[in-house]
Amino acid sequence: MFYFVLVVVLLCVVPVSAMAQDKVVLVIHGGAGAIERAKMTPEMEKQYRAALTLALKKGHAALAKGTSLDGVEDAIKVLEDSPLFNAGKGAVFNREGRQELNASIMDGKTKRAGAIAGINRIKNPISACRVIMEKSEHVFMIGEGAERFCRDNGVVMVNPLYFWTDSAWKQLQKADERAKKKTGLPSPSGRGAGGEGGHFGTVGAAALDKSGNLAAGTSTGGINYVRAGRVGDSPIIGAGAYAENESCAVSCTGKGEFFIRFTVASDIAARMKYRGDSLKKAADDVLAGLPKLPGGTGGIIALDRQGNVAMPFNSNGMYRGTITQAGKVWVAIYDK
Ligand code: ASP
Repeated sequence: MFYFVLVVVLLCVVPVSAMAQDKVVLVIHGGAGAIERAKMTPEMEKQYRAALTLALKKGHAALAKGTSLDGVEDAIKVLEDSPLFNAGKGAVFNREGRQELNASIMDGKTKRAGAIAGINRIKNPISACRVIMEKSEHVFMIGEGAERFCRDNGVVMVNPLYFWTDSAWKQLQKADERAKKKTGLPSPSGRGAGGEGGHFGTVGAAALDKSGNLAAGTSTGGINYVRAGRVGDSPIIGAGAYAENESCAVSCTGKGEFFIRFTVASDIAARMKYRGDSLKKAADDVLAGLPKLPGGTGGIIALDRQGNVAMPFNSNGMYRGTITQAGKVWVAIYDK
């Protein structure tokens, strides 16, 4: 009886928004456009699943004792540290043989955001985004100035060689060979719309914490064999990532040019906010609205304040997973 009265009293005096809620959810992706199923060996699949699981567990641990931003940052750090994904270590190369990293993070409670582009000396670009968000008066910083600011604010720096992997380098060589065959000219030639090799592998996360706050983040090395200086959607707030408590948290992956032009992440949020669409309908419709041009493929992870999750993709697969309150892990690569 005492407990019953206590609960009734608490329900009356504590505003719902301030109450701890029972749904703590973390959703991640490791990029749309998975390795062809026939070429995925059981050993490779095991490695991808293990990396996704580790990211979910580390992110969940941070989420359980901290905020949605902590969950997003820690999950993405694991994926950036893994050479399997196209973010941080393992990032793809541009046609000048350099890696240029881009990332963003957004806090759904305050709508503060931080983003970075064109860097190759910061070990975890997602942490740099958080520093830009929390310690500068800016949202988006690029290149050497961004690196200096982050270094001065305690972000871990590395030699650019840290990001190099044999498999990303081989992908560049393959794309280079293909380009030479097509044009008959030595590359880098500066020709083409950019982006070859079909390897995406960008990473992202969306989280809901115990206070009911959403956050999202995305991190990438861009697209194999693009022009130097090209920036995709991943560091662009509203295109590759978006979060607001009024609607949802979103992280995107795919051919960034389409995601920028169609402001994919914020369009999903707007459909929920202004039209009352469900998370699933908004995410499905926005993805379906992307042009069906070659390379116009990708995927989305989205999460709302009720803990609903949507993960549509129109590529052959998308590395993805979720972890919920009880620590229950689910990961997948292919089937929808
Ligand atoms: N969206 C990223 C970009 O265009 C690539 C990806 O998601 O794989 O840079």
